[in-house]
Amino acid sequence: MYDYLIVGAGIYGAVCAHELHKRGYRVLVVEKKDHIGGNIYTECIEGIHVHKYGAHIFHTNDRRVWDYVNQFADFNRYTNSPVANYKGELYSLPFNMYTFNRMWGVITPDEAEARIAGQRQSYIESRASEMGIAPEEFVPSNLEEQAISLVGTDIYERLIKGYTEKQWGRRCSDLPSSIIRRLPVRLTYDNNYFNALYQGIPIGGYTRMTERMLDGIEVRTGVDYLDPPVRIALEKQAKRIIYTGPIDAFYYYKLGYLEYRSLRFEEELIEKENYQGNAVINYTDADTPYTRIVEHKWFEFGLDASGQSIPVTLISREYSLEWKPGVESYYPIGDERNMALYNRYRELAGREERSFIGGRLGEYKYYDMDTAVARALELTDSLTRES
Ligand code: FAD
Ligand code: UDP
Repeated sequence: MYDYLIVGAGIYGAVCAHELHKRGYRVLVVEKKDHIGGNIYTECIEGIHVHKYGAHIFHTNDRRVWDYVNQFADFNRYTNSPVANYKGELYSLPFNMYTFNRMWGVITPDEAEARIAGQRQSYIESRASEMGIAPEEFVPSNLEEQAISLVGTDIYERLIKGYTEKQWGRRCSDLPSSIIRRLPVRLTYDNNYFNALYQGIPIGGYTRMTERMLDGIEVRTGVDYLDPPVRIALEKQAKRIIYTGPIDAFYYYKLGYLEYRSLRFEEELIEKENYQGNAVINYTDADTPYTRIVEHKWFEFGLDASGQSIPVTLISREYSLEWKPGVESYYPIGDERNMALYNRYRELAGREERSFIGGRLGEYKYYDMDTAVARALELTDSLTRES
């Protein structure tokens, strides 16, 4: 008999498994895919750690989480500095003084601020007059309004609109402003995408890091817990279950489907050393069909495990896709309909006696890796405190 069955070997499941195993519980992990790691899975091809489900950069302000993951990997000094390509013009991301200098030729933060404020003011005045309200009464209520209020119309038109509409498959005026709040805006010459105290890529890849978390623990890949006979058999073998798959799937969608945005990656191995000179380049115009190209070797400075330059390169073109049941779930659509449905599933989950549903799919949240780790630690702390 196992004390815990953990469904899913992503970072959340792996941290839960590690913590419970460390405290002496008997743990079994089952994973539907034929590999561990979930979304953070990396595969080594020609000496390059390829992020198979999209670029993953570990970043956090939480010292406890940083120390925690450093037990399983050394992290390199990679700092994410994506570049935006708008019709052949290159701009620094996130929006900072380099971006504003390229866009308007401004040099000082005051000049940049004045440009943004001028564009914001004209936009607010014209929107308020369309709406028949005073400018002071205008409150941004969608992504377009929020973005222009943050960075003005030029940046919005060139660096946000096309990218966001490709990414989400909807017009910016129909999207919630919360999506854009993730993007920092700075009046300093600083291309570091994340406002984080700690950042890096695990040396040796995320898969190796996950393997270390799961060291000494029984893991069965290629097992779908939701296959009814499998579920019946597994549930007889464990006292408690931690499930990290989609919450609606746990209940066989009996209240309806939660919606996502999906992605498709087109990988290409290229027989030259350098394709684009940066790990991530975003294509922010509406016509380029993909949103970004990731050149994986630059997460590790183009060097293999022994520090040698790698003579070839591997790129992934990332396309955003409409999601439908059965397709890989990437970004939760956290709109009103979906959140209301999620809350109904959560109510059911609250009544489970021996099953705990967590992780980015179980909680239907866009969690970064650090939050997934923190949530897993919270769950295992609470489970082991009470027993
Ligand atoms: P997952 O990794 O999805 O793991 C869940 C696992 O459960 C999967 O392996 C799945 O196969 C398995 N499973 C599901 N159902 C079953 C079943 N029925 N039976 C058995 N197994 C099952 N975060 C960052 O911090 N930095 C980044 O740069 C970053 N970039 C991202 C880029 C993209 C494109 C995306 C989509 C996310 C990104 N994230 C990033 C977020 C990060 O991927 C998540 O925080 C993390 O993967 C969450 O881990 P998890 O274990 O909760 O979920
Ligand atoms: N975004 C944008 N232009 C860019 C990059 C991002 O407009 O060049 C917007 C877009 O709406 C996106 C959001 O910012 O959905 C968050 O982007 P981020 O790259 O932080 O998220 P990721 O897709 O990497 O999880």
